[in-house]
Amino acid sequence: MNDQEPIQLRSELRERRKKEQKHFKLLKWGIPLVLLSVLLIGGFSIKQFFDQRALDAQIKVEKQIIIENSQKAQKQSGFETIKNVKERRNITQIIYSPKEKDTFPIADFSEKSKKMMDDIMKKQKTKEPIVLVAGLGTTSYTEHLGAYHIQVDTYQWQINKNNFEKIATKTDSPLYINQKTGKPVTSKELIAEDANLLGIHQVIQQQILDEAEDPKKIIDAVLDLPVLNWESKITYAPEELKITLQKNDTGVSKISLPYQKIRPFIQQNLVNPAVFTEDVQALDPNKKYIALTFDDGPSAATTPKVLKVLAEKKVKSTFFLLGQNAKEYPELVQQIQKDGHEIASHSYSHPQLTALTADQVTKEVRETDKAIFNATGILPRTFRPPYGAVNPEVAKAIGKPVIQWDIDSLDWQSKNTHSVIEVVKQTSHPGGIVLMHDIQQSTADGIATIIDNLKSHGYEFLTIEEMFQLNERPLYQYFGLENYRKI
Ligand SMILES: [Zn+2]
Repeated sequence: MNDQEPIQLRSELRERRKKEQKHFKLLKWGIPLVLLSVLLIGGFSIKQFFDQRALDAQIKVEKQIIIENSQKAQKQSGFETIKNVKERRNITQIIYSPKEKDTFPIADFSEKSKKMMDDIMKKQKTKEPIVLVAGLGTTSYTEHLGAYHIQVDTYQWQINKNNFEKIATKTDSPLYINQKTGKPVTSKELIAEDANLLGIHQVIQQQILDEAEDPKKIIDAVLDLPVLNWESKITYAPEELKITLQKNDTGVSKISLPYQKIRPFIQQNLVNPAVFTEDVQALDPNKKYIALTFDDGPSAATTPKVLKVLAEKKVKSTFFLLGQNAKEYPELVQQIQKDGHEIASHSYSHPQLTALTADQVTKEVRETDKAIFNATGILPRTFRPPYGAVNPEVAKAIGKPVIQWDIDSLDWQSKNTHSVIEVVKQTSHPGGIVLMHDIQQSTADGIATIIDNLKSHGYEFLTIEEMFQLNERPLYQYFGLENYRKI
């Protein structure tokens, strides 16, 4: 029995050993496998951890570059700014707001910038890092005109390039600045002179008529339109001037005037030069120009002959009509217009305006405007006072550029054809304005020779508008091309 025991023990022992060996095998291979996995996973995580850190560091560096560049750009604007940085998830917001908040021309700069950024972020769906930079953008149009606007640049992280790229720039509407004052341009700076207010008033009157369905119905209201003054509501806008008209019966309460239309009446260096188109051909300084003008008509007896000669000789001139005659002979006024001549005003009944009250002057001008409008559909732009008599009060009541002359044919005095021809021949000079009267028989008889003489001396003929390129202004009087002055 004793012998059996050890045998049994031995076999048990063997079995146990076998089992142990099995365990050992499992341990021998299993542990390294587990360890390897742990190492691999751990290593991967550690690599990922370090990669992310490197990326974060790279993003940080690139962000810093954006900040440095934007800081430089802000410095160039000439304003001291305060930088405000806000980080939220993948988005970094940087706002450069003006330090002198109260005196800075754009009000609520920070609030407006934030609003612009919020609008951009609402549309942004990416998970990549985004940097938004809001600051002051400036533009210089002329030495005098600049503009400020809020500008928001959007930078987005580019995974494959490992840097930020600007993907969008958004700007709000610009605020126009007088570079001399650093303040927004005002309509007063733009218009500057009473003469220009009157000039703009003329343009408004014609524009209302041009845009009216039935201009004849509103002509009285247009002629009675309260004259534009410094208290009128005039708003500067980049491409046009917006005016709220005083109470009137034209049916128009607000009007927008393109700067091109009021070019002579504004400080042109205070508007964007892009709004102007060159539609007037410049005069050639080497050419001899002269303007023929005819006063006091039209006359049924003599004006048709003058018109016939002008048509034959292909010469354009300017007719300063009397309102009472224009009213009597509208078909002659229409013929003058049809032939391509310029029609201007010479008062209604030919009084010496300096002897009248302002109201009486206004009435003379108004009635002539109406008579010429009824015949032609347009208002005369310029005015010649009878006898050339004018003073500042009269000029203001006239409200139109005053066209005088520097070559007097004296046809009204001599009433002699030969004399008229000789006087014009002797006194003509380049850039001159010749005064004649189409109601004088001597002029009607002599005009063909007068034109031939001038042509043989190399003169070219201009209307008044052509001579002054539509730059004539109220409160100024014009004697010749280079000869004009304030009244
Ligand atoms: Zn006259």
